[in-house]
Amino acid sequence: MKRVTILGATGSVGSSTLDLIERTPERFEVVALTANSDVDKLAAAAIRTKAKVAVVADPACLEALRERLAGTGTEARAGAEAVCDAARLGVDWTMASIVGTAGLKPVMAALEAGGIVALANKEALVSAGEVMMAAAQAHGTTLLPVDSEHNAVFQCLDRTAPKGVSRIILTASGGPFRRTSIEDMRAITPKQAVAHPNWSMGAKISVDSATMMNKGLELIEAYHLFPVRADQLDVIVHAQSVIHSMVEYVDGSVLAQLGSPDMRTPIAFALAWPERMETPCERLDLAKIARLDFEAPDYTRFPALQLARDALTAGGARPAILNAANEVAVAAFLAGRVAFLEIAAIVADTLSRYDPAAPDSLDAVLAVDAEARVRAVERVKDCVV
Ligand code: NDP
Ligand code: MG
Repeated sequence: MKRVTILGATGSVGSSTLDLIERTPERFEVVALTANSDVDKLAAAAIRTKAKVAVVADPACLEALRERLAGTGTEARAGAEAVCDAARLGVDWTMASIVGTAGLKPVMAALEAGGIVALANKEALVSAGEVMMAAAQAHGTTLLPVDSEHNAVFQCLDRTAPKGVSRIILTASGGPFRRTSIEDMRAITPKQAVAHPNWSMGAKISVDSATMMNKGLELIEAYHLFPVRADQLDVIVHAQSVIHSMVEYVDGSVLAQLGSPDMRTPIAFALAWPERMETPCERLDLAKIARLDFEAPDYTRFPALQLARDALTAGGARPAILNAANEVAVAAFLAGRVAFLEIAAIVADTLSRYDPAAPDSLDAVLAVDAEARVRAVERVKDCVV
């Protein structure tokens, strides 16, 4: 029996993880499930899986959670600190699928507790990559990437010969506006932006895919996960999302991982690692797909990708500022307070107005994140929709 915890159990990745676990309940013991405020979904999952603990980050939801779990044997807890405590229970396997920097402290707690941490929460690695990787190393924790591109690279990478790797090529679907002109991008609504052509995901990452900031965050994520320099990381637009990423070797060989665009494949890889497990994911029918298309990314229509590349090259506090400003801008866009094209502009302006020293601890990263948010919120106020 593998003892598992899911941080962000009510989200898109969290639900896919539960789906896999519930197909083979004899193989898993669910210890803790966490959410922000979705009491109904959290309680239902906790009851189905007989979880020991269910935690809501929002303390205002504790009473409702207690009521739903009364007499079930699952303990109800609340608060951001309780989420971190749940991450510290010392399980074999933790899914880190909270969205945004809200996941930073819980991911750190899980890394310090040891075992396997399956990481979907890319923002944690973007903001605090150095600190996170050092914590994983210090505590002997295995970090397995769940983000489909990084999971693909993990599967294709020959860790016994890192010098043989010449390039990591991340594929990008290009999102819903791959063919949209800048002129037409002005009027993009939140509803259009969250409608991803290939993947079904939470709202924040869907908007990130639409601006291509997602691919930028993934470049930074890849830099921390794999033993390559920033200039060895490339992006190629591949609209079908069949090839999930590639590793190029010095001899000219390119290894790729393919599959249907279903997050349950990379999640299952992490869940069964180092073995494999069955999934209900649709098998690839290459004859039906017939062709795979590729094109270079357009850094002019998708300036967020360039901002992320620059932040990666500059290093230090830049990725944390980029990420914090992006989270503020995306939330403002989803709330109808700023236009789609303002998202990258808010990130660019926040980066140009704030340039602190490189953070060297989790608290220092959180301080940079907090200050960047204050400045991004100020910048949002200048926007008129
Ligand atoms: P969702 O928005 O669907 O889910 C987010 C989860 O985090 C929910 O369980 C939510 O709880 C919880 N949460 C939100 N805010 C807080 C908070 N302040 N404190 C504690 N918990 C919180 O996101 P996704 O599942 O789409 O994405 C999760 C992460 O995985 C992101 O970092 C994303 O970039 C990454 N990822 C996602 C992919 C996907 O296919 N969805 C693919 C690759 C990476 P509640 O439901 O109560 O709000
Ligand atoms: Mg991805």
